[in-house]
Amino acid sequence: MLYQRSSALFDEAYQYIPGGVNSPVRAFKSVGGVPIFMKSARGAYMTDADDNIYIDYINSWGPAILGHTHPEVLEAIKKQAENGFSYGTPSELETAIAKLIVENVPNVDQIRMVSSGTEACMSAIRLARGFTGRDKFIKFEGCYHGHSDSFLIKAGSGAATFGNPNSPGVTAGTAKDTLLARYNDIEQVEDLFRHNAGEIAAIIVEPVAGNMGCVLPENNFLQNLRKLCDENGALLIFDEVMTGFRMAFGGAQEVYSVKADLVTYGKVIGGGLPVGAFAGRNEIMDHLAPKGAVYQAGTLSGNPLAMRAGLTTLELIRKDENFYQNINKTTETLDFEIGKILNSKNIEHRINRKGSMMSVFFHINSVSNFDEAANANHSLFNNFFHFLLENGIYLPPSGYETWFISDAIKEKEIDRTLEVIRKFEYS
Ligand code: PLP
Repeated sequence: MLYQRSSALFDEAYQYIPGGVNSPVRAFKSVGGVPIFMKSARGAYMTDADDNIYIDYINSWGPAILGHTHPEVLEAIKKQAENGFSYGTPSELETAIAKLIVENVPNVDQIRMVSSGTEACMSAIRLARGFTGRDKFIKFEGCYHGHSDSFLIKAGSGAATFGNPNSPGVTAGTAKDTLLARYNDIEQVEDLFRHNAGEIAAIIVEPVAGNMGCVLPENNFLQNLRKLCDENGALLIFDEVMTGFRMAFGGAQEVYSVKADLVTYGKVIGGGLPVGAFAGRNEIMDHLAPKGAVYQAGTLSGNPLAMRAGLTTLELIRKDENFYQNINKTTETLDFEIGKILNSKNIEHRINRKGSMMSVFFHINSVSNFDEAANANHSLFNNFFHFLLENGIYLPPSGYETWFISDAIKEKEIDRTLEVIRKFEYS
């Protein structure tokens, strides 16, 4: 493929934008090469600046669960735009989306809209601290909860991709209140509660991790976290920025039958526009301003265009009773068939999958925490990534990311993907 225009655009962007990108993982730094500049996206496909076409397995890092530019969402955004882009006042739309979520997601009485997953997670931590009167919280190595200071400690996603999970600029004072444990290691969590008795406000966890590649909770990990929180008066925060409305409409809470005290959302909830949210029971959410004392605000929170895109997306998902069954089945087929091909080539690998999230790790062992994800063969992943890219298949440009399957990926796209992978040679 030719990437002439993409390369020129990147050179130009590099002069004006740090690293040429507005979010680090887009830079292809881990896999090498020049990032591809896209100019349009529709359904299962994206088209780049050189007119190359790709089947997309990133789907904007999760939001495009219906596929890109779904016609009904597009129409809804256009109609809303006629009525104004932003009011800075309440609007009926905000209540409509809040009501749909509260009525269909477990353990959620109220929801507050923000503009990103980062805001949702940092606000949820503030609320948990305000509610419990405690300062510390537990997070897991390789989990990413956005780029707010207190989360950039052994963070996953881009932070892990660049080998810099602890960001300069985060003060020691902030870092000391973030306690770390290994994902799926309940004994470490027990130890933290023992050594910090009465000081831990919350545990925040990706119930299915997607930021060290896709890593699943094992051995009742989530149920045991719930139990430890109850025993120690801490809140359990499910970061469902990836899993919310993707694993099921009720997210991982529904799939694993575990109650979270607070849940954070992003990605699918905005249907491709910038939206995040955090939600929980009345007794906790009532502590938020203006009702309560915990302050949180946003100029564009509840933005009407974004609410319309999110609401239409969620309604379309709700309307299709086979929606989750279908995308999960597509993902299962990919997992199974890719596994068969890699086995036939004697390429050591593990595929982790839950719902419509999956990752291929080039690893002989199972992958259930960050160290195991880090020990996979990332240089082989990089070769795999570039081979697929050259052949019009767009994977996340890092072995520390999950693939997001959209409803627009059908048999034709799967067949093409498998045809390409069949030609992949281990080098
Ligand atoms: N939480 C999780 C689990 C995420 O995957 C992400 C982003 O990928 C975030 C939080 C941050 O969301 P945003 O990038 O919208 O700030």
